[in-house]
Amino acid sequence: MFSRILIANRGEIAQRIIRACREMGVQTVAVYSEADRHARYLPLADETICIGPADPAESYLNIPRIISAAEITNVEAIHPGYGFLAESAQFAEICRDCKIQFIGPDPESMRVLGDKVEARKLAARAKVPIAPGSEESVPTEDEAARLAAQIGYPVILKAAAGGGGRGMRIAHNEMSLRVAFHSAQTEAASAFKKSDVYLEKYLEQARHVEVQILADRAGNAIHLWERDCSLQRRHQKLIEETPSPALKADLRDQLCKAALRLAKAANYVNAGTVEFLLDKDQKFYFSEANTRIQVEHPVTELVTGVDLVQWQLRIASGEPIKLRQKDIGQNGAAIECRINAEDPANGFSPCPGRIERFFAPGGPGVRLDCHVHAGYEISSRYDSLIGKLIVHRRTRAEAIACMKRALEEFEIGPIKTTIPLYLEIMSHRQFVKGHVDTGFIERTW
Ligand code: ADP
Repeated sequence: MFSRILIANRGEIAQRIIRACREMGVQTVAVYSEADRHARYLPLADETICIGPADPAESYLNIPRIISAAEITNVEAIHPGYGFLAESAQFAEICRDCKIQFIGPDPESMRVLGDKVEARKLAARAKVPIAPGSEESVPTEDEAARLAAQIGYPVILKAAAGGGGRGMRIAHNEMSLRVAFHSAQTEAASAFKKSDVYLEKYLEQARHVEVQILADRAGNAIHLWERDCSLQRRHQKLIEETPSPALKADLRDQLCKAALRLAKAANYVNAGTVEFLLDKDQKFYFSEANTRIQVEHPVTELVTGVDLVQWQLRIASGEPIKLRQKDIGQNGAAIECRINAEDPANGFSPCPGRIERFFAPGGPGVRLDCHVHAGYEISSRYDSLIGKLIVHRRTRAEAIACMKRALEEFEIGPIKTTIPLYLEIMSHRQFVKGHVDTGFIERTW
């Protein structure tokens, strides 16, 4: 095992990684931007180092600064967390060149899976179902119109290098497609520095179901079942749960096996997630793979009892996976609510500012992964996620009841958060029945 690693991230995930390391006796170096100088998790790291100003381009996204910090502090490995450099194959490659272990897959796997067009091709070769769509990125508006007519409307344009729900446009007819094509390209170019877009059949009232996997260098690969992330706004997840209320045992089995086939085809090593969309007829299609730890990983940890972050470190240090597939069960039900500093009543607009009141929920079944507190200043420079409230109970109904009372206990003010919306969702008949899809929140609220 490593004796010392650097965490190239901030906020709740930096804190989560510090916690994993402290339990394993691994020393940590936490980096921070000037805006995060007073973060409460920093004193919990063995060493801290300032890597620049608040602007992510000059700190958390700045490869030379992070590599310099790693070299100065003499670490053996870097954990990238999620977001920032976590899916940068270039960063993973530079780590390799500098003889620093990147805690994640090889840059080669990241490159294929990070390009959604290439990932679709790989999925097709691995006999993982893909939604009807273009084989390559679509070069022109006319070509998009020709393909869409062939596939049938509605269609969705997606950025090949996309992530975080950006660069996506749904089109219901040729006219809207032609307009969407250019705006999707422009958004992709500005967000991902690559304007390539491709086309897929838009699956109406689909559910988002993803499979967690772990794979090691010795060729062992296991899955840790699914997470249902159908509750979204603007194609971004808000609430995740496991097990998925939509899956029967045989479909669950097919999904998990398909995820492992893709991981194998990509020579995947470390923790990863294979995402699928499940349509109204219970047919599933590969949508993308995420080559990192996910925000929603705690629900999987709770029902399987496996610490995913600790396994990321073990695998990266060369240990084989000692867990056996048959020993990994789904024990009970877990739900996560992403606590965002956003105003749900105002189009989910971000609400940066100072937290004056903060009271954390607790008690049986409650896990809170959160780095903020009273007096904390939420910066508009970073993501609006300020914490994750996760519950674990014997049944889904009990988990919902637990989440409801934990949300009621949770007090954060005066800034607006997504908590009031989640309270309504927990009591909504459709959610309680498990009958939701990716458009549920936007249709209902
Ligand atoms: P990102 O990498 O930006 O998160 P994904 O490919 O994971 O993009 O898609 C995010 C979400 O967008 C999905 O969970 C789903 O809600 C929606 N989506 C993507 N592709 C389709 C599709 N073909 N049909 C319907 N919804 C889709």
